[in-house]
Amino acid sequence: MFQSTKHRIALISVDGDPAIEIGQEEAGGQNVYVRQVGNALAKLGWQVDMFTRRSSSQQAAIIQHSPNCRTIRLNTGPAQFIGRDHLFDYLPEFIAEFQRFQMSEGFRYSLIHTNYWLSSWVGMELKKKQSLIQVHTYHSLGAVKYRSIDDVPAIAAQRLAIEQACLETVDCVIATSPQEQQHMRTLVSHKGNIEMIPCGTDLDKFGGIKRSVAREKLGIAPDAKMVFYVGRFDRRKGIETLVRSVARSSLRGQANLQLVIGGGSRPGQSDGMERDRITNIVAQLGLQDCTTFPGRLDDTVLPFYYAAADVCVVPSHYEPFGLVAIEAMASQTPVVASNVGGLQFTVIPEVTGLLAPPKDEAAFAAAIDRILTNPDWRDQLGVDGRLRVEIAFSWKSVASRLTNIYTHLLTQTAETVQHPQIAA
Ligand code: UDP
Repeated sequence: MFQSTKHRIALISVDGDPAIEIGQEEAGGQNVYVRQVGNALAKLGWQVDMFTRRSSSQQAAIIQHSPNCRTIRLNTGPAQFIGRDHLFDYLPEFIAEFQRFQMSEGFRYSLIHTNYWLSSWVGMELKKKQSLIQVHTYHSLGAVKYRSIDDVPAIAAQRLAIEQACLETVDCVIATSPQEQQHMRTLVSHKGNIEMIPCGTDLDKFGGIKRSVAREKLGIAPDAKMVFYVGRFDRRKGIETLVRSVARSSLRGQANLQLVIGGGSRPGQSDGMERDRITNIVAQLGLQDCTTFPGRLDDTVLPFYYAAADVCVVPSHYEPFGLVAIEAMASQTPVVASNVGGLQFTVIPEVTGLLAPPKDEAAFAAAIDRILTNPDWRDQLGVDGRLRVEIAFSWKSVASRLTNIYTHLLTQTAETVQHPQIAA
């Protein structure tokens, strides 16, 4: 065990609330990562405080998840949803609230782990005001993302500069895949300290449900050929490619082909608009009879959808890691994914699924068909997918690898092990 007394750590995720419902407007992998890393660190003996901003006046300021793990929501700008690209100007307020919180606790964090570029700036500013160690996970790199979208936001230049400063100055940056690590080196900076620790998944929640049981619960026919997507409605997720590939499938027109597109959306918000766009494409292609949109899938049903599916498709244009792929694999469901970013690391072609070039609907159609028309192979891919996840992607191993890094950094920095008190 790394320590006998509990050491406090702040996980900072201004825009990604670890306690919020996942699956709609900007709530996805980052929220899951912070929550799961926080839980797993607490189980290893850390005292974990996860800081985010309050995005609704209905939200509790503090949520205690377990004796050593809580979410703390700081007042930062109006108590309403604000998109990531419009949050930067509120960050000084977040920092002031964070400092006020420390004062009220009579304590200063000597170790913080920041998430996404917005929080990296918060951490770097805090570092100017107090002695601390900063570890950072990007979750998404502007330098990669902006290459894959047409509408580059006004904040882009600032984001790129901050991402570079972060890599060059914080104590350690965590890459979640070798591909992300390479992007950091080639597109962000050759300076700075990077460690590669992948994301994890919940091995108990996903897996252990038979396909037949899952289908019965969800009302899906035993002989259905079920193609499944789950995730945010965002253009970079490539849902359009999936829909167009299903339209080209050789199984098209057969009564048992089913496309299920899971994920929440809110009318008038960007995810609601993307869902409307996808719904229109489904209608234009005449796929409405075999396509369903079950909405946001929470923990009580998501494991059943994964288990019921013949294939899970992750057609992203860009994906730093892609939790959905390993959740499907943990559920013994093969994955057809774009050969981009972390998906090239998690999905082993011909072993746990197949990879196809992003936006290439013909290649996706061929890959999906290969799995749908070969149930024995589908099952073998599923078994090997589960094995891969058991070996490489548990949150427990993520937390112990992070613990090694934190402990190493803490022992290197003498004053950070003293838990300095603040004069009130
Ligand atoms: N998710 C969910 N319900 C939904 C949609 C998504 O629980 O209706 C979860 C999904 O299971 C995964 C996360 O949201 O854990 C998405 O993470 P991923 O890394 O795949 O994508 P990101 O959102 O980070 O782009």
